[in-house]
Amino acid sequence: MKAYSLYEGSYSVDSSKKFVPFDPEKDDKKDRKGSIFIHVHPFLIQTDSDLVLIDTGLGYKNDKGQYVLYENIKKLGFDPQEVSLVLMSHLHQDHASGMVIEQDGRLSLAFPDADYIVSRGEWENAYSSQSSSYRTEILDVLQRSGNLILVEGDGEVNGTISYEHSGGHTPYHQVFHLVEDGKHYFYGGDEWAEPEQLLRKFSAKYDYDGRKAMTLREEYGQRAAAEGWTCLFYHSTGAAMGKVEIKDGAFKIIPVEE
Ligand SMILES: [Zn+2]
Repeated sequence: MKAYSLYEGSYSVDSSKKFVPFDPEKDDKKDRKGSIFIHVHPFLIQTDSDLVLIDTGLGYKNDKGQYVLYENIKKLGFDPQEVSLVLMSHLHQDHASGMVIEQDGRLSLAFPDADYIVSRGEWENAYSSQSSSYRTEILDVLQRSGNLILVEGDGEVNGTISYEHSGGHTPYHQVFHLVEDGKHYFYGGDEWAEPEQLLRKFSAKYDYDGRKAMTLREEYGQRAAAEGWTCLFYHSTGAAMGKVEIKDGAFKIIPVEE
């Protein structure tokens, strides 16, 4: 089993929730006052039986009009059409927009041979919420496809992959474990999207339940250290994967090379 980051780029986001590409080499943060700056890393994991994509990014194209996600998968030597499972932590647009592609003005599934694993409560909330973080025109495509698998609570996708309801970032956010051949990958989605969130204990206002997210990070950090997990960080500005050590009662994150 092996995991790869499919780094999609860095972006600024203002109150309109629009993600604008941000190139630290050329662009100046001062020109985007009131924005937050984030990196986006979907992950690809090859297991014995599946090619797994974890969260799908913004679905952005490069200068040549090619999908960044597709190009990154190809660079690793895989065909995007080989993806057999798509695991979704939640459905905010920066995680879910890459579930579909647009061709001649029409949207279709980006990974037509994959099962898409989505939390049922998150799915329902995406449709009932007024939040501009959700793009239901994307979810409509998945709903019509027959590839949608709704899951609830904690459970198993197969012998390697399991999900846990977390509920801090959104009420029905879920996290994933992939365990095979003595390796354990953990994907905490937006509960723990940057490694530093564990070190600077804080409750964030962009979370549905910031205290819960903070408590979860603490718990995941303890388990990661005890069980040797490799943690995957979707919004990391540095290394996208890391292991956790506890030294003199303090957490330490050791970057893991791909
Ligand atoms: Zn996010």
